[in-house]
Amino acid sequence: MNILIINAGSSSIKYQLIQMPSELLNCKGLIERIGSEKSTVSYKTNTVKIEEVIEIPDHSAGFKKMSKLLMDPNKGVITNVKDIALVGHRVVHGGNSFSETTMITQEVKDKIRELSVLAPLHNPHNLEGILLAEEIFPNAEQIAVFDTAFHQTMPVKAKKYALPNELYNDHRIQAYGFHGTSHKYISEKAISHLKLNSSKIITIHLGHGCSITAVKDGKSIDHSMGFTPSNGLIMGSRSGDIDHALIFYLVNSLGYSLEAVNSLLSKKSGMLGLTGHRDLRDIEAKAITGNKECILALEMNAYRIKKYIGAYTAAMNGLDAIVFTAGIGENSSTLRSLVCTEMDYLGITLDPAKNESKSSNIREIGSAKAKVKILVVPTNEELEIAKQAFEIAQNQ
Ligand code: ADP
Repeated sequence: MNILIINAGSSSIKYQLIQMPSELLNCKGLIERIGSEKSTVSYKTNTVKIEEVIEIPDHSAGFKKMSKLLMDPNKGVITNVKDIALVGHRVVHGGNSFSETTMITQEVKDKIRELSVLAPLHNPHNLEGILLAEEIFPNAEQIAVFDTAFHQTMPVKAKKYALPNELYNDHRIQAYGFHGTSHKYISEKAISHLKLNSSKIITIHLGHGCSITAVKDGKSIDHSMGFTPSNGLIMGSRSGDIDHALIFYLVNSLGYSLEAVNSLLSKKSGMLGLTGHRDLRDIEAKAITGNKECILALEMNAYRIKKYIGAYTAAMNGLDAIVFTAGIGENSSTLRSLVCTEMDYLGITLDPAKNESKSSNIREIGSAKAKVKILVVPTNEELEIAKQAFEIAQNQ
């Protein structure tokens, strides 16, 4: 069965065609800078690689370009729109309405639209992706996989803010958690790799966005991102945790508009604000040459992660494993080493040689004697979406 996975963002469409149950990746592609005259289109199969710069004025044009490539007589991987049986969509915010993957109906679409107030930068584009996919692949079942779903198991004591109750009861103000598909995928991989029956695991997703989850017996019980994906760890350009009263100071004393504060905290802060670079590879390269700002930013980043590991170990009253994933977590031995330094009290000790080893497979990088396992597990959100979509279709 061919499953098309769609991740439609504000100016991009990421897609993969995965065959299930073999989990074979037939092709993957990315259309970026939609709305500009110089949009980039990439498309890759086992035999073909295309990189183009053309004008893609809107998402509708992006979807048409994608389907044209998929069905191209020479470069394509399908012959007909009917060859796609299922389309699995990444949807960022499922609020409290969706605790699992769902077949898309009119009611589901209405709910996703309604939840746009909670994720204005994501849900409207995810919904547009659904509507366009329905148009282009009318025979395919459409399925939504929510980033927030995995965190629906967080107990109220973890997800509720200490605000007046009506804000929680009437206005749905609470921590929802994000990156759920990745945390679910890597925690399941880690649990099966370590053959654990009962388990206390901390999953650390470090990409452009960064988040950390306490996973007890396979369920998310606490998570660093909150009502929006801005809380918690230091990210590429997001500050993560700050004293919220700082916002009043920026507005009342320094003359910032609310819009400027929003842009400051989400687009100009984090590693970018600290170093002038968003990409960790640039920051590491400068740190090696002795750049003090870059060295400090790496230390701050790791220190924040260490504090969350301590907090979540306390929340679970123990720890079996920590799991690193995503662009930084999978590739940066430097950051992993900074996180795992002076953590032996908690039973975390790195094996430096294993930490430097490179592989695209799941690997253990902790010292053999250590109480807590340290794993690197490559994430694969698209495959997780395909698996969940396939499972739902099988159970129909
Ligand atoms: P996204 O959140 O967009 O999926 P990724 O998971 O691809 O992000 O991660 C992007 C981050 O991974 C970037 O900050 C990049 O610097 C970092 N990264 C990728 N490769 C390496 C590497 N070899 N060493 C250090 N950082 C890396």
